[in-house]
Amino acid sequence: MNPDDPTATEAVLDDSAPLPIGHLVIVGNGMAGQRLVEALVQRHGAPRRITLIGAEPCPAYNRILLSPLLAGEMEREALTLRAADWYAERGVELILGERVERIDRAARRLTTAGGREIAYDRLVLATGSTPALPPVDGLELDGVHAFRDLDDAAALTAAAERGGRAVVIGGGLLGLEAAEGLRKRARAGMSVSVLQRASRLMNRQLDATAAGLLEAELAGRGLEIITGADLERLEDDGRGRVCAVRLADGRRLAADCVVLAIGIAPSVELGRQAGLEVERGIVVDDRLTSSDPAIHALGECCEFEGRTYGLVEPIWRQVEVLAACLSSRSADDTTPDDETPRYVEQPCAAKLKVSGISLYAFGPIESDDDHETLTYHDPEHGDYRRVLLRDGHLEGAVLYGDTAAGPWYFEQSLAGRDLSACRQALLFGQADARALLDATHSATPHPATPHAQDRSPQEEAA
Ligand SMILES: Cc1cc2nc3c(=O)[nH]c(=O)nc-3n(C[C@H](O)[C@H](O)[C@H](O)COP(=O)(O)OP(=O)(O)OC[C@H]3O[C@@H](n4cnc5c(N)ncnc54)[C@H](O)[C@@H]3O)c2cc1C
Repeated sequence: MNPDDPTATEAVLDDSAPLPIGHLVIVGNGMAGQRLVEALVQRHGAPRRITLIGAEPCPAYNRILLSPLLAGEMEREALTLRAADWYAERGVELILGERVERIDRAARRLTTAGGREIAYDRLVLATGSTPALPPVDGLELDGVHAFRDLDDAAALTAAAERGGRAVVIGGGLLGLEAAEGLRKRARAGMSVSVLQRASRLMNRQLDATAAGLLEAELAGRGLEIITGADLERLEDDGRGRVCAVRLADGRRLAADCVVLAIGIAPSVELGRQAGLEVERGIVVDDRLTSSDPAIHALGECCEFEGRTYGLVEPIWRQVEVLAACLSSRSADDTTPDDETPRYVEQPCAAKLKVSGISLYAFGPIESDDDHETLTYHDPEHGDYRRVLLRDGHLEGAVLYGDTAAGPWYFEQSLAGRDLSACRQALLFGQADARALLDATHSATPHPATPHAQDRSPQEEAA
């Protein structure tokens, strides 16, 4: 750590504090790895030495903003999270452009592709994920891209600038952001088709009505949306370049550029090679500890209670838990004390980053027999809201158009609040619903709340 940092000195001088971890090595300089460093350098009792190793050649950047970057709405520089000297100033060793290839758990040592050997006391794997690949021929052809990193964004930008025809495979959040990005970026125009295997766009987040509104909006902007599309293969032009996408029903879509956006697969190779327990992701407990107590996994590469991750919100909560676990520990002590926080799964809300389109969704899409469904639809303004209640408690919401109430719905759902009292105003947003809730609350005598006539003048005034 930075020897000039007064907090570091304080931690070392305090005899009663447990010794910090000696050398922490983090593999993966992506959003999770970088956020962990950010959290650790602010903590007392952080590891004495931190090394961050990333396969990408540049310091961590905001991957979420690749979509506006492709669309030409942001500059590359705005994505960088911290410049290289930020790490140096905090005593963090940053090794870029080097992939870690092997972990020797017995020796607590790892080896990079460049032959560098690094010993660790504690190791964090934050290796993210790679694009999932459909099981079809032609994926190796030139002109076939993923949308995961800066190189992909640069390749797609170049393709958009050349124009022609693009086919995006996948009608989820990532596929739609890629499709709109290509369309907007193409100065000379580009015909962009989106192939979605399911019967509607964003079928994991949207119900049929909201998906229909979204499809109509995107089609109005010039995207061709094909749902129920069963991909058969990508065709070679005879020179190793993609020239078409073939569907199982015989349809052939000419293509100069194909984008694969059907999902992600956690990057688990390193964990598997090291002999850690791996299912879809590297299996961790609620302290983000793998089957080896000296190794943690974090972010899209990990799996907790059978779940893997694809949004940053749960990853930020994982970072807080792991940063607490990695602070104020002895290098030999791999057992967290009972006060260390534990990671708890929570639902997440989905948003689409396409300018001019606002949607917000969380919770189950399909209602069951015990759900009460409330719906508001104003086709004139393109506003749609649908909430699912169970015994007065909000379990899910889909909002399209005016999404202002979305975060409040989400908050109420997380809090498990009984909203029966404001049921009739729920679809009109927070202000109306809250007024009813407050009125009911103040009309209900609470044993701990004195009646108005019992209050002192100061309490009344307050
Ligand atoms: C275009 C796009 C838009 C997105 N939009 C949103 C959004 O709006 N909201 C949202 O919540 N999420 C969004 N996401 C998802 C979000 O970016 C990820 O959830 C997040 O980046 C995951 O962080 P991570 O650190 O686990 O993985 P990553 O950020 O992928 O970082 C992993 C890093 O590890 C490196 N690495 C892998 N293996 C090794 C190795 N062996 N040695 C060294 N380094 C290695 C990789 O090169 C990479 O740099 C988006 C993703 C993309 C691609």
